[in-house]
Amino acid sequence: MAVKEGTVAFEETTPYNRLFDLDVLIKEGETAHSLSRGELNLPVRTCLICGRPAKECGRSRRHTVAGLQERVAVLIKQAIQAT
Ligand SMILES: [Zn+2]
Repeated sequence: MAVKEGTVAFEETTPYNRLFDLDVLIKEGETAHSLSRGELNLPVRTCLICGRPAKECGRSRRHTVAGLQERVAVLIKQAIQAT
């Protein structure tokens, strides 16, 4: 659980850290399941463009692929400039 809290904290450190989507897998016998933010009452992932819950925008296809690519490009440039 502490590991998932750590990955969420990392993802939220800067806007461009949101480009990472880190999963923590819990082994259950021969299978594994990905620990969700919701299971730990952590805030849900937000949309890179508008800040609404990311699942809402994904499901409704609120944004165009071109719009998302543009936003990701901006975030990558910010990450490069910060190094
Ligand atoms: Zn959105």
